[in-house]
Amino acid sequence: MRSICPLCNGLYDIDYNCTNCGATMVDEGPRVNLMDDYSPYLLDEITNRVDGVERDECIHIFRCPSCGIQESFSIERKGF
Ligand SMILES: [Zn+2]
Ligand SMILES: [Zn+2]
Repeated sequence: MRSICPLCNGLYDIDYNCTNCGATMVDEGPRVNLMDDYSPYLLDEITNRVDGVERDECIHIFRCPSCGIQESFSIERKGF
């Protein structure tokens, strides 16, 4: 059995509502794929977080199409 992220694999969508305006946020994809755009400081932050967390999860960036804010959500990987 292997664990996969349901969002990365298109199994289903998860809707989050923007904390600012309540609009449905859009999945911008997993955070790891965006690493090239981030500074070394943020890379360190991600590494520390991964080392400290045992849970099997995928960090996704969600963006609000209405007001433009971005938030990170931890998506639990499922075993299949
Ligand atoms: Zn994912
Ligand atoms: Zn919003």
